[in-house]
Amino acid sequence: MPSVILNQGRERSLLRRHPWVFSGAIREVQGDPQAGDTVDVFGADGAWLARGAFSPASQITVRTWSFHQETEIGPDFFRHRLAEAVGFRQSLGVERQGTAFRLVHGESDGLPGVIADRYGEFLVCQFLTAGAERWKASIVEALAASGPYRGIYERSDAEVRQKEGLAPAVGVLTGEAPPDLVEITENGVRFLVDAKHGHKTGFYLDQRENRSAPGALSQDRDVLNGFSYTGGFGVWALKGGARSLVNVDSSAGALELGRRNLQLNGLAADKVEDIEADMFGLLRRFRDARREFDLIIIDPPKFAETRGHLEKACRGYKDINLFAFKLLRPGGTLLTFSCSGAVTPDLFQKVVADAALDAGRDARLVRHLSQAPDHPVLLSFPEGQYLSGLQVAVR
Ligand code: SAH
Repeated sequence: MPSVILNQGRERSLLRRHPWVFSGAIREVQGDPQAGDTVDVFGADGAWLARGAFSPASQITVRTWSFHQETEIGPDFFRHRLAEAVGFRQSLGVERQGTAFRLVHGESDGLPGVIADRYGEFLVCQFLTAGAERWKASIVEALAASGPYRGIYERSDAEVRQKEGLAPAVGVLTGEAPPDLVEITENGVRFLVDAKHGHKTGFYLDQRENRSAPGALSQDRDVLNGFSYTGGFGVWALKGGARSLVNVDSSAGALELGRRNLQLNGLAADKVEDIEADMFGLLRRFRDARREFDLIIIDPPKFAETRGHLEKACRGYKDINLFAFKLLRPGGTLLTFSCSGAVTPDLFQKVVADAALDAGRDARLVRHLSQAPDHPVLLSFPEGQYLSGLQVAVR
């Protein structure tokens, strides 16, 4: 088997079960491995450390499949890992919460680069790394066997594929393509998901447990749902008795689907204003117009793709939260999120604290929020924690 030899002292992270080997840690590659091939990783002293997938185009040159030397990487390995992923979701009871959840969450399930989201009778997958791409057929076979599903669909059109030297890939992997809109249920609420064209695999499943938070905070309240996508948080605000709801998103199509999601749940659209706009500008216009709200949700897209964008991202989070604080009535609540993995929960809290300070608001942290448990975080891989959220109450 081809092998990768590390520089002196660079074995530490693998010994701590962190699954990535960066290009700078590598002294030598032996045996001419191709993208996606399985390689053994050795320390400078010759000790075997891990077995993983080689990806010469990426700065993350190896992603570990296994830390056990006896593990063979082949169809059986993927069947086994998938069975574990399925069993774990069963143990969480996510199927009792609804028909949509994440079945495979990359590194956290020992399957770097593999994402599989379940939407009712369909699975929607992403293969984001050279190793995942190499074993796609085996993984799809294992996924299909964990069914039955009507179809497994690929949405490997995420930009990160470029870093692995992979072109986008979209289409049916097995069975039928999902219909234009798949209906799912989530904690008793119904949503339509555009799995073929929507963001990521169609829906932000990582927000499942947070999405219902407005249900308890909205009675007779004026609610602003910023970065609303297909209206998930807003549906819960209306269910919770909101007096009014403003959904804001830069995507007209997402807002339109949000309308249909209201209808689907029998919620009155007359309390709802949809605004297709850039949140940064809109918040300033609202301030100038002295608009006020009792509950504001801020769930922006990822501002920091990498740690290199950290400072700029923090400025973005600060700006948007600062203006949100300014629009809150006394006694109001802010539900605010960052899905930039590079922004740690501590850092995010600091940014939000600065925003409150600059807005001149006394603010109390009520609750930390994070990604749903079907998006678990390996303790040896803290990078897996990417969604940070805060529920903040102002005086
Ligand atoms: N809260 C949503 C997910 C939000 S994802 C849910 O629970 O499903 C982020 C959303 O922000 C996307 O829908 C995207 O279209 C929108 N968006 C991105 N940049 C924006 C901007 N500058 N202003 C307003 N919306 C923006």
